[in-house]
Amino acid sequence: CGIVGYVGWRPARDVLLGGLRRLEYRGYDSAGIATVTPGTGAVEVHRAAGPLDNLVRVTDAHPETDTVARTGTGHTRWATHGAPTDRNAHPHRDTTGRVAVIHNGIIENFAALRAELEDAGVELASDTDTEVAAHLVARALDDDPAAGFTAAVRRVVNRLEGAFTLVFTDAQRPDEIVAARRSSPLVVGIGDGETFVASDVAAFIDHTRDAVELGQDQIVTLTREGAVVTDFHGDLAPTRPFHVDWDI
Ligand code: GLU
Repeated sequence: CGIVGYVGWRPARDVLLGGLRRLEYRGYDSAGIATVTPGTGAVEVHRAAGPLDNLVRVTDAHPETDTVARTGTGHTRWATHGAPTDRNAHPHRDTTGRVAVIHNGIIENFAALRAELEDAGVELASDTDTEVAAHLVARALDDDPAAGFTAAVRRVVNRLEGAFTLVFTDAQRPDEIVAARRSSPLVVGIGDGETFVASDVAAFIDHTRDAVELGQDQIVTLTREGAVVTDFHGDLAPTRPFHVDWDI
């Protein structure tokens, strides 16, 4: 339902929880954040069903995420596949915890992809259509480590059917986020030494008003230096920068 991602210099937890607060008006049944702390090997995830205050309580119990992580993603979920429980809340991770994903929309061919992963011995930890994306990207990174994070995401989203916004973090790349859009909206925010991605500019308007709207079937790679937008074939894509001159 609501999506926010951040790469920069501020404590990621505060940016993500603040962004989710701004997206609450959309409605949701659960919320979660993923934060990437360099050198840990796994993305840290906190999730809670119910109002955002439940998630705030969960993250307050882990103050270490406040101080170190400068990259992460946050999600408010409106369940379509799987009950609104803690374990179905986003972000979802692959088995090793290296890759985390948040998702808006529906992956229509998730059942076939789940079956394929289960045949390969992967144990799924949720009932969602979303979780397959984390496992598939982790496997793509393993298969071709030299190809890079964006290439791994591209390979996977080309296999997905349906409408989706997906935002990925990789524990081995603490300064990078990759997001893909098909049908669901996605906006990038460009700040000074920091970048944002969100389902709605409201999520980052407290930090920057310079934005780029992603088009259909586009992928964006975010670093502190900026955003690179490509299409699902890997070619550079035209972007539509705009300035947010309204208040919310
Ligand atoms: N289909 C996903 C789920 O049920 C995402 C729902 C959403 O857009 O929040 O977990």
